Amino acid sequence: NKFEALGLDESIIKAVNDMGFESPSEVQEKAIPILLEEETDIVALAQTGTGKTAAFGFPLIQKTDSSSRITQGLILSPTRELCLQIANELKNYSKFISGLHTVAIYGGASITEQAKQIKRGAQIIVATPGRMQDMINRKMVDISNIGYCVLDEADEMLNMGFYEDINSILSHTPQDKNTWLFSATMPREVSTIAKKFMSNPVEITV
Ligand code: AMP
Repeated sequence: NKFEALGLDESIIKAVNDMGFESPSEVQEKAIPILLEEETDIVALAQTGTGKTAAFGFPLIQKTDSSSRITQGLILSPTRELCLQIANELKNYSKFISGLHTVAIYGGASITEQAKQIKRGAQIIVATPGRMQDMINRKMVDISNIGYCVLDEADEMLNMGFYEDINSILSHTPQDKNTWLFSATMPREVSTIAKKFMSNPVEITV
């Protein structure tokens, strides 16, 4: 199995086989070994449909301690639909890891219901920036211990005007976390974010 060669654990390989993935996509082949082996920031230029969700999802799941209830990973994504899609994929990838919980946080749905889900213990949160900021303000979520922050579709999030929210959300995260940025395009605004929030990121293009 070509996924084993990337360094993925048996529990994820089992899920990969169940999903019928035969071989890693290009972005998965390039990103997964780096993210598993190194504690590093990464900037990946990758379009939707390239398999980027698994490229950051597999390593994030593997690096998450499911025996702890602390929130360890945060994924920011531009829309409700994408949040739900990513959360569903992550649930699939981690279905053989007991105790690992992924929660989706987005606007237009009950904030108290989402707060309840977080309170039950969510090691991984997938959120839109606006709702995330709102929940931080209301002290419904604690991201002060995360080790990994994924900025997915960074160009879209900036297009949608989420710069200030992202800026503020990241200020509530530890300095020593790793940031994994994925974007379909690399306009100046995205490079500015990368320069401001990341240190010596590894760059990947597919
Ligand atoms: P994404 O680019 O992450 O939105 O993924 C696009 C679609 O490809 C999703 O439906 C994934 O489940 C699927 N996918 C991701 N990686 C693979 C793979 N290595 N082999 C086959 N399908 C994949």
